[in-house]
Amino acid sequence: MPDQTNHAPESAGTCPLCGQANGCMGAAGRSHAGCWCAHEVFPQELFKRVPKEFIGKACICKECLEAFKRNGE
Ligand SMILES: [Zn+2]
Ligand SMILES: [Zn+2]
Repeated sequence: MPDQTNHAPESAGTCPLCGQANGCMGAAGRSHAGCWCAHEVFPQELFKRVPKEFIGKACICKECLEAFKRNGE
């Protein structure tokens, strides 16, 4: 298993909440406008859970977004 205990800032392809791949197109070197995250609404409450050094760098993955919406926290 790769060592992912160090969340490096360049890991834009990794969800800052769960550490799984976020499937972000921006991380793959493509236009972020085509990323799934550009078409989703991310609640401010969800961003509050993201360490601020990752805000605007790494996308939250779809699973975390949907889990947040499901739980309605
Ligand atoms: Zn996640
Ligand atoms: Zn994205």
